[in-house]
Amino acid sequence: MSRENTDPLNFIQKIINQDNKSGKYNKRVHTRFPPEPNGYLHIGHAKSICLNFGIAEKYNGKCNLRFDDTNPLKEEKEYVNSIIEDVKWLGFDWEDRKYYASDYFEKLYTYALQLISKGKAYVCDLSPEEMRNQRGTLKHPGKASPFRNRSIDENIGLFKGMRAGKFKDSEKTLRARIDMSHSNINMRDPVMYRVLNAPHHRTGNDWCIYPMYDWAHGLEDSIEKITHSICTLEFEDHRLLYEWYLNALELYQPQQIEFARLNLSYTIMSKRKLKFLVDNQFVDGWDDPRMPTISGLRRRGYTKNAVRNFAEEVGITKRDSIIDAVRLENALRSDLNKRAPRAFAVIDPIKVVITNFPDIEFETLQATNNPEKPSEGKRDILITKEIYIERSDFIENPPKKFFRLGLEREVRLRFAYFIKCHSVLKNKDGEIKEIHCTYDPQTKGGSAPDGRKVKGTIHWVSVDHSINAEIRLYDRLFNKVNPNEGGDYIKNINQNSFKVYKNAKLELSLKSPHNKVYQFERNGYFIQDSKYSKSNRLIFNRAVSLRDSWAKILANKNK
Ligand code: ATP
Ligand code: MG
Repeated sequence: MSRENTDPLNFIQKIINQDNKSGKYNKRVHTRFPPEPNGYLHIGHAKSICLNFGIAEKYNGKCNLRFDDTNPLKEEKEYVNSIIEDVKWLGFDWEDRKYYASDYFEKLYTYALQLISKGKAYVCDLSPEEMRNQRGTLKHPGKASPFRNRSIDENIGLFKGMRAGKFKDSEKTLRARIDMSHSNINMRDPVMYRVLNAPHHRTGNDWCIYPMYDWAHGLEDSIEKITHSICTLEFEDHRLLYEWYLNALELYQPQQIEFARLNLSYTIMSKRKLKFLVDNQFVDGWDDPRMPTISGLRRRGYTKNAVRNFAEEVGITKRDSIIDAVRLENALRSDLNKRAPRAFAVIDPIKVVITNFPDIEFETLQATNNPEKPSEGKRDILITKEIYIERSDFIENPPKKFFRLGLEREVRLRFAYFIKCHSVLKNKDGEIKEIHCTYDPQTKGGSAPDGRKVKGTIHWVSVDHSINAEIRLYDRLFNKVNPNEGGDYIKNINQNSFKVYKNAKLELSLKSPHNKVYQFERNGYFIQDSKYSKSNRLIFNRAVSLRDSWAKILANKNK
């Protein structure tokens, strides 16, 4: 178990417990998940969703879903819809509390007028570049804007003019009047509104000024009477400003609490970078099974339980760290091991002829559906004289430690019989076309009455009673622990992250697979591809292999 989890309460729960004790919010717990709809959600967002909705559940409180849609240039309805789908898929319910920052535009505008009336905000004519140059540095104070001392009336007139569309983009801003020499640079007269003549996906052309994140966010939390506003560490330095706005307007104050964002090895989490991969077709859309997006994980075969268990297991900290991607894969393995029905699929087939098998149509055998759940019973599988096995399960002259099939070697066909190989048939290039074996009819079900043992057990399907499918195997999208290493994540894309097997053979029971994840014995966990698979052209994605070397090392350590 990870170190973060030895204390059953994380630091956020401790803060909430204290607040409940002191009566700060009358024992109310109300959180929110506030995505900006400028991309699809990723596993980092999943962690935030699980945290915010999870806290609300634990304390019998509430959690809102709020779209922070203050930047019309980057936001789209498609992203809103995908976010709704993803949060629902994770199993969380915002009930009737789905909000949009854009619903508050009028209210925010009124608050801005109030701030101007208090002499705490002013309209500034500096260009973005001039403003940057006057901002100062950590060591040096900033310089006051020449427009800082405009009268309240003039500011109100100009701000109304901004709203009325009298100015061009970036011609004017509304700035808070705080302190140009404040040690926290965020407090040096930050911009509250900018002129931006762009339509918004919800408010259309109603607005040509848009609120900045820091101004809008705290007010949104306050309007919704959020108690604990949980965000990631990079907002720690913004908390002072968040509180300043609410104090200046004498409004209800939520408590902002920061935690470390989730970073995963071999994974990028920036929506901007993920969008670049999508826009430039490095991947097959936001839901490409190699993407760390929730929709990508879903298409890959991840379950909501696996994602939620992973979020819980990695815990909440104040320190930035990189979580090993294997922990996410292991969360999936342990969920699927319990629930996934087993099936036979031969990914890269080679034909085996059982020369002494009777010339009958087929023989019916019994296979266990899930050894972890005996109650799920058994299914029929059909064996015939000709079967397929994995090409990799045969070596003509195998080394000693190869326990699968080879010349004069005997193996068990799972749930069937022992077979022994006597010869191979090759084409003129010397490539093996067929493997010829005999079977021992005494070994039905997989054991020999004379007590002789075989070291290997392999899976198989009947040639006549199997179906064709395409199987897609995935590897990590990046080949560096930190994909940003060297400064260009595109250079670190793993060129071998996607492999297609077009001639896979599946057992008959997979003819009409449901949308569930199967364990294809010995090959891993697979799900039908939700985007391209059709009844006449089945396509399966591998969610994850059965084991990885990391797991083996850990298992040995724990022995
Ligand atoms: P990105 O940098 O990927 O674009 P973001 O922070 O800009 O992410 P938002 O839509 O603003 O994306 O995020 C919504 C919520 O999810 C925020 O509260 C944010 O703190 C949280 N969040 C985003 N990324 C992570 C992460 N990697 N780990 C935990 N929480 C995250
Ligand atoms: Mg953000």
